[in-house]
Amino acid sequence: MPPVKRCTVTECFYNQAGQCRACAINVGGSHPQCDTFMKSSTHAAPCDLGQVGACKVSQCKYNENLSCTAPGIEVSHHLTHADCLTFEPR
Ligand code: SF4
Repeated sequence: MPPVKRCTVTECFYNQAGQCRACAINVGGSHPQCDTFMKSSTHAAPCDLGQVGACKVSQCKYNENLSCTAPGIEVSHHLTHADCLTFEPR
């Protein structure tokens, strides 16, 4: 699974020092938003490295069979939620 190389959404439960520590995130919706984002004042690290488990953004050039084939992704803010910045339209 592609690693989440960097995530600037530090208010997320899974974020520690700018790194995603969720075991597997889901990306998708009407645009490439991180569905795993959860705003929280407390943080945890279930896994050492966040990875992309599934992605529903079929219009992205890295998407194959609703899975991400990018070498890694970056996540950052979009309004009040988190988006995959690595998204590129086909
Ligand atoms: S790079 Fe594309 S396929 Fe990979 S998680 Fe982001 S939007 Fe989904």
